[in-house]
Amino acid sequence: MTVYSLPTLDYGYAALEPFISAEIMELHFSKHHQAYVTGANTALDKLAEARTSADYGTISKLEKDLAFNLGGHINHSIFWRNMSPDGGGQPTGPLATELDSTFGGWEAFQRSFSEVALSLQGSGWAVLAWDCLGGRLGLYQLYDQQNNLPAAQIPLLQLDMWEHAFYLQYRNVKADYVKAWWNVVNWDDVSQRLDRAHSLPTDLI
Ligand code: MN
Repeated sequence: MTVYSLPTLDYGYAALEPFISAEIMELHFSKHHQAYVTGANTALDKLAEARTSADYGTISKLEKDLAFNLGGHINHSIFWRNMSPDGGGQPTGPLATELDSTFGGWEAFQRSFSEVALSLQGSGWAVLAWDCLGGRLGLYQLYDQQNNLPAAQIPLLQLDMWEHAFYLQYRNVKADYVKAWWNVVNWDDVSQRLDRAHSLPTDLI
């Protein structure tokens, strides 16, 4: 069963240079992201087999495998579109207004998001999300691919802080990676995600 598949990348592997190297992009997209896609489909297959054979004792492990791998697939799918060779600068329009009212201005948001990214312990993501219940933006540290994010948060902007995302180019200097990444953020994509999140029904929860 192939439910999930690798999305298309809207730009070439070298398109985000010098901020993110082609070597990182190729490995990250074609190997790491592909592994999450394969893992999510495999978990679904095994869950179906477990139900067919009434082997319910394996379900706990398989559901964990599904959460991790589907998390990886979703996170990376958003991450690629959050970036563009034409990115960088500052957001405008309703997104800028929302960031100002929630975080106290562009600089305060940028410093907060960077701090969320740089203070992660272990592997994870910095996430700007729309909270459907509160009707507000929020920042989260997403651990591994699936932990520490409440349900019904719609991801708008994600930064991959796993070592595979930066180590070949930035080694252990995470701060330089985060500083460079701001130059490729696709604010048009983030704004469109916020627009769509705003249109979600308010009685989802
Ligand atoms: Mn990654």
